[in-house]
Amino acid sequence: MQQVLISAEPAFINADQDVDNTFLGQLDCPKLLILPLATGLKTSVYGLVVVGRARSDPDFTTAELQLGQSLATQAATALENARLYAEVEALAVTDSLTGIANRRAFDRALEREFVRARHYGYPLALIMVDIDSFKHYNDTYGHLAGDDRLRAVAQLLAQSVREVDFVARYGGEEFAIILTNTDKQTAIAVAEQIRRKAEMSCPEPLNGLPVSGYTLSLGVAAFPDDAQTPVALLLAADNAELAAKRAGKNRVWVVGYEMEEEG
Ligand code: GH3
Ligand code: MG
Ligand code: MG
Repeated sequence: MQQVLISAEPAFINADQDVDNTFLGQLDCPKLLILPLATGLKTSVYGLVVVGRARSDPDFTTAELQLGQSLATQAATALENARLYAEVEALAVTDSLTGIANRRAFDRALEREFVRARHYGYPLALIMVDIDSFKHYNDTYGHLAGDDRLRAVAQLLAQSVREVDFVARYGGEEFAIILTNTDKQTAIAVAEQIRRKAEMSCPEPLNGLPVSGYTLSLGVAAFPDDAQTPVALLLAADNAELAAKRAGKNRVWVVGYEMEEEG
């Protein structure tokens, strides 16, 4: 049987003689045809189909072997299609550079979380995150080093929130975090923790100043305080993040007022 798994070629086995194989030995049909569940390309074997025949029956014919192979190939193709479909589905919602959710997945998650928050009557917060002076980092260290920074920031964000929260790459060097069942004050505290963590990750001390590629500007907005729809919440958090930039970067800005001013 192992041979069929490796070679992806069918085999005939006589279980009477194959005494080593306890599984086959227990069958009352000692004449066995083992078919690999493999597609035409035989790149991978998904499993085996075992067809048994009683001792008194005639041996398998070539026509039966061909029919069996054809059915096994069709089943394997269906399995492969299902696997490919699942892969494509995963790719469609994942950002290939950082491995976190992409914009499309974020849009869906925000809609879904809004429905939940309204239904259960709990708050919902959104943090928009933008890497400070990232263009300068790329210009200084190159695009590949910039890619590494993006991955590192994505990791930092993912590690800074709970499993129920949702971190996505919103686009370019911007990220979005949905905090489930979280009020505005808690979201501000989370954003400030993230800001500090990013600051701590800088290779050199910075005294509250922005460091290109490392420090972050964050905007916080919450439902129901600042917005009543997903689009309005996104706009509010985005505006807050832009205000953080205007105010000097490396800071958290909240709709209406600034929470943290360093330096
Ligand atoms: P600010 O502090 O105002 O946000 O300035 P910034 O330089 O970060 O913002 P700007 O929008 O001017 O530049 C964003 C840069 O992000 C420019 C773009 O090349 C870079 N970028 C976007 N996506 C990627 C990527 O996938 N990899 C790399 N290495 N860089 C990227
Ligand atoms: Mg930006
Ligand atoms: Mg930026």
